[in-house]
Amino acid sequence: MVDIIKIKDADNVAVAVHDLPAGTQVLPGVTALQDIPQAHKIALTDIPKGGDVVRYGVTLGYAKDAIPVGSWINEHMLDLPQTPAVDHMEFGTNIVPVEDLPDPTRTTWMGYRNKVGPAGTRNLLGIVTTVQCAAGVVNVAVERIKKELLPKYPNVDGVVAVNHPYGCGVAIKAREAHIPIRAVTNLIRHPNFGGELMVVGLGCEKLTYDMVLPPEDITPDNTLTLQDYPGHDAMMDALLAMADKKLQKLNQRVREELPLSELLIGMQCGGSDAFSGITANPSAGYAADMLVKGGATVMFSEVTEVRDGVHLLAARCRDAAARDKLAAEMRWYDEYLEAGGVDRDANPTPGNKKGGLANIVEKAMGSIAKSGTAPIEEVLSPAEKPTRHGLIYAATPASDIVCGPSQLASGIGLQVFMTGRGTPYGLAAAPVIKVCSRNEMKQHWFDMIDVNAGPIATGEKTIADVGTELFELILDVASGVKEPYSDQYGFHNDICIFNPAPIT
Ligand code: CA
Repeated sequence: MVDIIKIKDADNVAVAVHDLPAGTQVLPGVTALQDIPQAHKIALTDIPKGGDVVRYGVTLGYAKDAIPVGSWINEHMLDLPQTPAVDHMEFGTNIVPVEDLPDPTRTTWMGYRNKVGPAGTRNLLGIVTTVQCAAGVVNVAVERIKKELLPKYPNVDGVVAVNHPYGCGVAIKAREAHIPIRAVTNLIRHPNFGGELMVVGLGCEKLTYDMVLPPEDITPDNTLTLQDYPGHDAMMDALLAMADKKLQKLNQRVREELPLSELLIGMQCGGSDAFSGITANPSAGYAADMLVKGGATVMFSEVTEVRDGVHLLAARCRDAAARDKLAAEMRWYDEYLEAGGVDRDANPTPGNKKGGLANIVEKAMGSIAKSGTAPIEEVLSPAEKPTRHGLIYAATPASDIVCGPSQLASGIGLQVFMTGRGTPYGLAAAPVIKVCSRNEMKQHWFDMIDVNAGPIATGEKTIADVGTELFELILDVASGVKEPYSDQYGFHNDICIFNPAPIT
């Protein structure tokens, strides 16, 4: 039986695969001095007071007191390192050649080609509101469209209301207002909506059509203003008539065999534990490397969960432009957190700590593993669209329900979501594949978790095994051959777009 997992040769701690009773010899010369809970850390050497505690080859913190070999190391025994500086970061010092990445087992998938940008993984009518005031009407209309119109159009997979909290009662000219406005603008053009625009406004809101659409697209075919209609029946008739026209066009779309370069997917994690960085996230990273080698675009995010590893990301930046944008996004977020009187260590949750994560440094190192090893081709602000293929870093909040919509706005056709403690999270506009970090999680939510990376911790599977399994599932789901559990049940979260600007 495997007792501990050590990640890098330089590590002086390892993680307990299961509860280790005092007296358990885990390695020659390393015996547990006290009971060590599952997922928590054991010292593999004597660590002097002030010495580095190293996991993932990275200093998680400094020992507050001398730590004898075999000790349990918990979050109370470490001093947190300073936030790494982002000035003068070296770039391009760790560029893994594409030929060294793992080979994809398939090089094509079945998607809906778009005139511009990545292809769709689903064929959906997306109805986007310009203000939350329209959401109630749109939700009722969507239910009627699904019931009364959708059955006539067998090639259309569904109808999605893209409601969000932005649009009015906000300082629309505020310095950071461009961030939520960009999110709405890009959500309208989501690849799964096939270029068929259906934008619904109220009529008196601050977010006007010209802020989210080019002049040529502001037509009665694409926009509908609720205040223009006399009462409920006229409003519903207009919405259904507009939807019917869009559905006719969408129904002509068919899946075709496409290269992986037409695929854009996102990665994020939520409810992490100390296994996330050993099993689920490295498996996702392996799948990401396979996708990148095949020419696909893979996005990862979550600023506070990469902040402590930013120098590792800079070393993987392809060019100075990516490094400079990375530094700028980190600076922006540092100031954003500081304005709220906190720093990046406000991120870990009680559940994270119970799951063995000592601090934000340890959480970040596990989180970064989802990006695999490929070079970072481009760094994006929240809700920006990539202009390059390969691995992309999009600097969004780590909050699951904000990161998801930000990545959607960036155009992801699918998201892979790693979890240690479990969440039913899902998105209506793009399928979400759930990967769990522990066998216990899969046993608990056997019919809600799509991929179990737990067998990596117990030595029954390798990262390559689960990574390849995940790669196959990503292509099957993207191709419409399989549906993840969240879509089977319709577990879909609200579209909480990131709005750092003032609300009035
Ligand atoms: Ca997250």
